[in-house]
Amino acid sequence: MTNVLVLGSNFGGLTAALSLKHELERDIDVTVVSASDHFLFNPSLIWLPFGERTANDITFPVAPTLESHDVHFVHGEATAIDPATKRVETTAGPFTYDYLVVATGYRNDFTVVPGLGPDGNAFTITTLEDAEAAGDGWRHFVDDPGPVVIAATQGAGCFGAAYEFLFNMSYQLRKAKLKDRAPLTYVTAEPFLGHFGIGGLPGGESLLKLFLRKEHITAALSTAIDEVQPGEMRLADGSTLPFRYAMVIPPFLGQRVIRDTPGLADDKGYVPVHDTYQSKAYDDIYAVGVAAAVTTPWQTAVPTGVPKTGFPTEVQAHAAAENIAAQIRGEDPSTHKQFGDIPAVCVMDAGNNGVMILADKMLPPRKAGVMIPGPQAHALKLGFEKYFLWKARNGYVRLP
Ligand SMILES: Cc1cc2nc3c(=O)[nH]c(=O)nc-3n(C[C@H](O)[C@H](O)[C@H](O)COP(=O)(O)OP(=O)(O)OC[C@H]3O[C@@H](n4cnc5c(N)ncnc54)[C@H](O)[C@@H]3O)c2cc1C
Repeated sequence: MTNVLVLGSNFGGLTAALSLKHELERDIDVTVVSASDHFLFNPSLIWLPFGERTANDITFPVAPTLESHDVHFVHGEATAIDPATKRVETTAGPFTYDYLVVATGYRNDFTVVPGLGPDGNAFTITTLEDAEAAGDGWRHFVDDPGPVVIAATQGAGCFGAAYEFLFNMSYQLRKAKLKDRAPLTYVTAEPFLGHFGIGGLPGGESLLKLFLRKEHITAALSTAIDEVQPGEMRLADGSTLPFRYAMVIPPFLGQRVIRDTPGLADDKGYVPVHDTYQSKAYDDIYAVGVAAAVTTPWQTAVPTGVPKTGFPTEVQAHAAAENIAAQIRGEDPSTHKQFGDIPAVCVMDAGNNGVMILADKMLPPRKAGVMIPGPQAHALKLGFEKYFLWKARNGYVRLP
């Protein structure tokens, strides 16, 4: 029986493992090894600091889901991969594989700006622990409010989360009747508002300008951050922004174990892949989601990354599963999904409002792209959260 090992159990790993099992059922043995034994719906981390969600609301244990579909689950962290012997060392013991799927996602790169990180001077919301700490900070802040800075650093790519947190912050400040005492500033590496790391969409810049004006938010665009000191952000142009509360989205990196595997990854720890999601170095190793490298098709004055969101991650995971199944059947991988050609489907939440973002392709040149603002976008995000968690918990990965 062919043995497939999947590293990671979130959007990419869960989808790839279950999709493979559906492809080949009894002819395949699938094992998932993951550093976390819970699925985390990261898109809801924007709400957690404000007490709108708890960890329980946005996570579920993955073992029952995987095991009910006849996929083995092991809670452990991969610590070394040897592509020559097809062996992976993990904190739960060694595993061998015929095919390996890398879906190990991201880690924060706090080194880009001194003063960031768990013991630093600003919060972030990119992991559950970070978001919980940002929530502790928010609860202290409401008793002693002041200026607020929300930022996405040079090299960051997850701009959607920065905007969502910015507008949710504005909404929560108004709800807490603190808007007058807490001026809000957005600092970003993006060359213009609504660039989002995907080059922007028609009408996006003017829409975002309108949103910022309406919410009385000041923006510093195309801006790098030099340092975050206690209560003060120093920007590369020499100016400083005092704050009582700061949330900063840093750049992401791939996991160290991936970076340290000979020939597998680039210097950021991402796996260069073909449009089949096969590693360019090893045709029995696949990488999906954040773990797969994407070449940014432009250079901005201040470096920006590309957001690797949930929808393309699922598309990649299905493509990888279909291609592994083809290889097992002795065929060539034939499902091709270039990252830039995958449709962009996203909702940006703004507290009680939002924007639906739809485009025929993640990256330009595009034929169509549209941003639809309104309270229905907020309702859609709420509905999507419930639907996605239901779908993932039950392992219904074939549903859209
Ligand atoms: C705050 C925030 C908001 C977001 N909002 C949206 C949104 O609104 N819409 C959207 O589409 N996307 C959103 N995203 C992006 C979305 O979260 C990612 O696309 C998605 O998480 C990628 O899934 P993944 O499986 O590739 O990686 P991850 O979700 O990072 O999962 C990686 C998995 O690998 C495991 N792992 C890590 N290291 C190891 C190891 N060494 N060995 C074994 N396992 C390991 C982890 O425990 C985890 O299970 C958001 C992201 C953030 C941070």
